[in-house]
Amino acid sequence: MYIGFLMIKRTIAISQSFTVVLTHDDSFWMRIAIDMAKEGSTPFGAVLVDEEGQYVAECNTTKLNGPTAHAEMNVIQKMNQLDFDRTEDLTLYTTVEPCPMCMGAIIWAGIGTVKYGLSIEEVSAYCHQIMIKAEDLVAKSWRDIKVIGGLEKQKCNELWP
Ligand SMILES: [Zn+2]
Repeated sequence: MYIGFLMIKRTIAISQSFTVVLTHDDSFWMRIAIDMAKEGSTPFGAVLVDEEGQYVAECNTTKLNGPTAHAEMNVIQKMNQLDFDRTEDLTLYTTVEPCPMCMGAIIWAGIGTVKYGLSIEEVSAYCHQIMIKAEDLVAKSWRDIKVIGGLEKQKCNELWP
């Protein structure tokens, strides 16, 4: 009886450390998105992550590659680099709430979750924005996409001059 209890305890301990190795928390992925933004010397960075911690990270390359080369669009372009079965299990982390173009692409791609730092409204203080919230696009679509804002907000804000 006593030995059995010990074994259960040990199994739990092992599975917990296993989980820690495979998955990272939101701030880990947001930091990668922020680093991406810094690398591209724009305030926009995005990371697409699957449940096993595989990811693609991209920055905004609008200046080089034209008006549709937003960080989220670039990440979606590279989605095939991930070996995933179900797009609804993917999470897209981004420094700024996706604009209507990017959110449209996220809906078409069927990505299940979006997590962002600054909102469109907050960023509109720094640059032009199309004032339509990501949630509003989801509400008008056939998808059920989880949208969560305000992650690492301070650090995302520091990216702006
Ligand atoms: Zn965009």
